[in-house]
Amino acid sequence: MTKTRFAPSPTGFLHIGSLRTALFAYLFAKNKNGKFLLRIEDTDQERFVEGGIENILHSLSWAGITPDEGMLLGKKEDVIQNGENGPYIQSQRLEVYKKYIDQLIEKNKAYHCFCTKERLGELRKYQEANKMAPGYDGCCRKLSLKESKKKVESGEKYIVRMKMPKDGTTKIVDLVRGDVEFKNELIDDQVLLKADGFPTYHLAVVVDDHLMGVTHVIRGEEWLPSTPKHIQLYSAFGFDMPKYAHLSLLVNEKKQKLSKRQGDVSVRDYIEKGYLPDALINFVAFLGWNPGDEQEIFSLKELVENFSFEKVSKAAAVFNVEKLDWYNEQYIKQMDSSQLTKECLPYLVNAGLISEEPETGSKEFEWLKKIISIEKKRMSKLSDLPEAVGFLFADKLKYDSEILVWKKSDRDTVKNNLEKLKDYLEELDESDWQDSVLQEKIGEWIKKQNLTNGEVLWPMRTALSGQKNSPSPFEIAGVLGKEKTLDRVKEAIDSL
Ligand code: GLU
Repeated sequence: MTKTRFAPSPTGFLHIGSLRTALFAYLFAKNKNGKFLLRIEDTDQERFVEGGIENILHSLSWAGITPDEGMLLGKKEDVIQNGENGPYIQSQRLEVYKKYIDQLIEKNKAYHCFCTKERLGELRKYQEANKMAPGYDGCCRKLSLKESKKKVESGEKYIVRMKMPKDGTTKIVDLVRGDVEFKNELIDDQVLLKADGFPTYHLAVVVDDHLMGVTHVIRGEEWLPSTPKHIQLYSAFGFDMPKYAHLSLLVNEKKQKLSKRQGDVSVRDYIEKGYLPDALINFVAFLGWNPGDEQEIFSLKELVENFSFEKVSKAAAVFNVEKLDWYNEQYIKQMDSSQLTKECLPYLVNAGLISEEPETGSKEFEWLKKIISIEKKRMSKLSDLPEAVGFLFADKLKYDSEILVWKKSDRDTVKNNLEKLKDYLEELDESDWQDSVLQEKIGEWIKKQNLTNGEVLWPMRTALSGQKNSPSPFEIAGVLGKEKTLDRVKEAIDSL
């Protein structure tokens, strides 16, 4: 059975690039009716960030990516471990790694290294000064197992390094990149066990992927140089080799690596801005994958059905926020208005436009739903909403006569037209205050008055919104109701 895994280190908020890695691993597994596992790689305790595991799991769960095995969220949104191959947090598996490191030492595939920090520091300086490639010089590699065991027994401090073969090459067969070959002589004797008793990532990842039954290792391109070391470890242990897929880097439009300084990089940033999970997932899937036809909108289910590594490019994937906005707009437009309203409420509360979230179906909720239905076709992300609709909530608008006066008209004409309009609106019934009815009635009235649409509708719209750009005057009037509409028209007249 196909089993993929996502193996993040809990070093902060889930990065958008890591979401892509998790998504591709998930899609591949599901496409093959396999399983997707989540393991936490926290062997580097210095980089551990409190709350990191929770953030990773919440971000994935928000995006609809649920692991079948390993770390997941329980019913109460608490972090749980599920499966027969646990624990799934590496810091809880130190005994397991110890056993496997001992095995390698016995097999003469790894060795104790007693070099002090000072010696290694000197070595590095020497290599730098002589423009030599950095790396361990193999000093302790020459010790016999007997000698080194004696040193260990006498209490000497040590680490364990792998005995990398010094000739030949190591070949990686990669599902995205094809064959990649590395010269063994250029690969360092990687540390496997650190002085603090923790294994390094390299040892732990190999042992865990093997013990947890992972068949496909899908991860970022930055891990490619580590892979020959992993392959050598697999063969030293005599484990079956998994298949590999290394995903290309994510870059910005200037072809630079995505970085925090240049914009949002964590999934949390995108959640907070009001991107919908389906839109973000659809967008992220296209960062490197392309089905090769016209279709751009894919549900998670469709992504699962269509995903394959043959359609994944090895070129760097360009992260284009405008494209993400486009996806979000498509999903917002498709969304049921009540559901969208519910999603938007926290943004309105946060902006202080409403004091608390009204109950679904209440009068206030229905009124907000009307507003959101209008904005639906104009909104890129939910956080755009408060600024776009703030004018509908205001008690009084500030008018700029430059905006009120239509470009082909003048102040007196506009004032005159608004006065006529006000008289006409007063005659209308409260029940006419629906955009389609208003559109029809006001349209006919304009014709009868021998006026043009621009002469009436521009001032009407700006009187109701106070803004250069806004929804149509009928839509705004429909939301405001008769009394407020008339108040605003009167105030606009007074301001002229
Ligand atoms: N723990 C590594 C990371 O933080 C995972 C590398 C891998 O998938 O092998 O990205």
